[in-house]
Amino acid sequence: MWVSTLLIGLVPVLLLKGSPTSRTRLDEPDHLRVRCPVCSWQPRKSDRWLCSPGCLHRWNTFETAGICPGCTRTWEETACLRCEAWSRHEDWYVHGER
Ligand SMILES: [Zn+2]
Ligand SMILES: [Zn+2]
Repeated sequence: MWVSTLLIGLVPVLLLKGSPTSRTRLDEPDHLRVRCPVCSWQPRKSDRWLCSPGCLHRWNTFETAGICPGCTRTWEETACLRCEAWSRHEDWYVHGER
């Protein structure tokens, strides 16, 4: 007759309060983690790349995934502003912790 009382304590407690979007990440100014595959330099939002040879537009290439807003050219490789090495654009992105 005590068994049913014990089983109540084994019911899993689901803590699903709140919406998944309620988490704000004020500590991280950049939602994307980007770094040079060669020297690990991390560009900031204020850094600019030059479309050259091209339309000479200056913009942050990581905000457009390597596409020049001036002439819509896709830059498949991105030069590092620090070590000047060219790397594949997708290699710059640090894929999240798994
Ligand atoms: Zn570099
Ligand atoms: Zn361009």
